[in-house]
Amino acid sequence: MNLSLDGKVAIVTGAGQGLGETIARTLATAGAHVVVDDLNPDRAERVAKKILSAGGQAIAVAADVSSKFQCVKLVEAARIEWGRLDILVNNAGIEPVSPILKLDEWDWDRCIDVNLKGTFLMSQLCGRVMAEENQERGGIIVNISSIAGVESPLMHRAAYCASKAGIVGFARECAREFAPYGIRVNTIVPGVFETPMTENARQNPEIMARWKREIPLDRLGYPQEIADVVLFLCSPGSSYMTGSTITVDGGKVMR
Ligand code: NAD
Repeated sequence: MNLSLDGKVAIVTGAGQGLGETIARTLATAGAHVVVDDLNPDRAERVAKKILSAGGQAIAVAADVSSKFQCVKLVEAARIEWGRLDILVNNAGIEPVSPILKLDEWDWDRCIDVNLKGTFLMSQLCGRVMAEENQERGGIIVNISSIAGVESPLMHRAAYCASKAGIVGFARECAREFAPYGIRVNTIVPGVFETPMTENARQNPEIMARWKREIPLDRLGYPQEIADVVLFLCSPGSSYMTGSTITVDGGKVMR
């Protein structure tokens, strides 16, 4: 299977650490020129430098995906640097923790704005560029949802669950509307992965024991196991896939 992304230009949001970092580095290793976005500029710079020192191509951009103005800046950065745009990975996400009865409205809004509105804004802006400029080349959009939004509610994370369910619904219609332009849109639904987002929970032996009981493969996922699926979805190997929702969770949620 051809997994080469030679000459393609990709934007990965929230790529300063965790899943996004590994996705950005994996796409760069496959030959893509990568715009490493993160709200935190130091994180974005660090990852872009790692890609450059490994012989890849990357630039760092500090943009907040919940802001349309900053999303425009992010998309323009790709076109100014490399004159084209082929791939968008909507990975940036936050996870406020609170029971619903105490959940602050600001935390609800912020979570929906980053996770769901950010996915919409970036898909719309990148979709316009891909539809207008790419012709037969089309484009690729990969979204990162969560099992928390699909089958497996996550305790005290109602805004997160809602935002991640919203991504699945939005992405399906996005796939339908973008198909005539040759833009494929697919969504990955990760289970539990070893990243900074899960670091606190991983320190808790009770939570770890429960996760291990619930996961037939008997361990958490490694970020590379998401990045490899993203690479497949960006490659010609997945040319007949769009509107798909793909669970990657060690068997935690089985249908
Ligand atoms: P993480 O917290 O380790 O990293 C997320 C990165 O996104 C951070 O560097 C952060 O600065 C950046 N970010 C936050 N808000 C942003 C914004 N407004 N604009 C741009 N960047 C922003 O998270 P992770 O574990 O790597 O998760 C990545 C994605 O995968 C998230 O969408 C998360 O919901 C999803 N996910 C993770 C897991 C898991 O187990 N780690 C499971 C299911 C889904």
